[in-house]
Amino acid sequence: MALSTTLSQMSIALPTGIDGSSRSMIKVQSMSFTEKSWSPLLKLDSKPRSLTVKTRSTICMSLQQASRTKVQSMSFTEKSWSPLLKLDSKPRSLTVKTRSTICMSLQQASRTKVAVTPLELEDPKETPLNLYRPKEPYTATIVSVERIVGPQAPGETCHIVIDHDGNVPYWEGQSYGVIPPGENPKKPGAPHNVRLYSIASTRYGDSFDGKTASLCVRRAIYYDPETGKEDPSKAGVCSNFLCNAKPGDKVKITGPSGKVMLLPEDDPKATHIMIATGTGVAPYRGYLRRMFMENVPNFKFDGLAWLFLGVANSDSLLYDEEFAGYLKDYPENFKYDKALSREEKNKKGGKMYVQDKIEEYSDEIFKLLDNGAHIYFCGLKGMMPGIQDTLKRVAEERGESWEQKLTQLRKNKQWHVEVY
Ligand code: FAD
Repeated sequence: MALSTTLSQMSIALPTGIDGSSRSMIKVQSMSFTEKSWSPLLKLDSKPRSLTVKTRSTICMSLQQASRTKVQSMSFTEKSWSPLLKLDSKPRSLTVKTRSTICMSLQQASRTKVAVTPLELEDPKETPLNLYRPKEPYTATIVSVERIVGPQAPGETCHIVIDHDGNVPYWEGQSYGVIPPGENPKKPGAPHNVRLYSIASTRYGDSFDGKTASLCVRRAIYYDPETGKEDPSKAGVCSNFLCNAKPGDKVKITGPSGKVMLLPEDDPKATHIMIATGTGVAPYRGYLRRMFMENVPNFKFDGLAWLFLGVANSDSLLYDEEFAGYLKDYPENFKYDKALSREEKNKKGGKMYVQDKIEEYSDEIFKLLDNGAHIYFCGLKGMMPGIQDTLKRVAEERGESWEQKLTQLRKNKQWHVEVY
């Protein structure tokens, strides 16, 4: 069994059970496999998590840095294993003998970018748009559904990988439509209406082969305002369908749609200020993977990407470790500010919202906008009034008219808003 990863740094921890008597755990931050049948087993995801890998008797792994097969660095908590897998910069194949399981924790490599295919996905001049419409949706397959928030997060958010087999190509910043199974209660006999979801992966998908798309979906739950109790009969149809889906389930998708959040790539040195609340981070995960994770021949980003993410508390942070990795590897090109409304206070002693962070850095943000920066807003509709009020107040303090500035930003195509 050959697994080819695109990691240059890997640490294998073998805490228990490697003798085959019990299952060991594997922590994966980012991997890609040449052997397709393995990808659903080892889900791609930004958060370290435990997965169990079943092998028959031997796993033969080849680790790949860029395009060559070599191991750059490995460390073992369980000393007895290190002699088996020697640290070495030369390409080599490694054979790990286990009886039934192997346990490892993988780390995203520093500055090592992942090879992506097929590069034809860079070619089309026209944005892919509405290749599948509600009357004739594409039937895709769920690869994985994973809760990506911690236990203290209010509500649940899942990262969902969908296999479209390369048939529904899209660009970063676009959305897919999903038609949940069942009947539309408002139109008996007709299917449900389409729900849109921002795509959270690059055009190459989390599988880096252009065959999957990932969504970041918050489960919509209904609480009765009088009793405060959850009423499952009024739970959101599509978000619950997606968050409850199992690998192999079919999902009807439409699209891709949307042009407003496309990443302008004409200037690789441009500044992109990305503002998100909750699942609004989805398109930015795609942008940032394209900028910092993937080796895309015709897009060598060397500008500034600045992410402001507002969520309730640290357990609600989405893709935090992936973003923290960029901060470590690309400190000159990436900034990341979080606003945790239920954990932090703003300077007036109130809850810390994303607009409070914008205010804190308003001088810098206004200068960047004056120099042509793009600014993006994505998330719940309710985020915009507070942000607009803050921007207006800051503009006035600077002796500028916000209305004029906004008109200019829109005219220059620097202003990108997708709220729902
Ligand atoms: P629905 O079934 O449509 O219900 C909507 C809401 O009404 C729910 O909160 C539900 O609990 C409540 N409700 C149901 N029945 C009743 C009742 N009888 N009385 C009162 N309330 C009731 N969402 C994401 O999670 N991630 C994304 O990346 C994302 N991207 C989007 C991008 C765009 C461009 C747009 C427009 C929307 C996006 N959305 C995203 C939102 C998404 O499209 C859905 O609106 C959301 O998932 C809720 O759909 P649902 O089918 O689960 O809920």
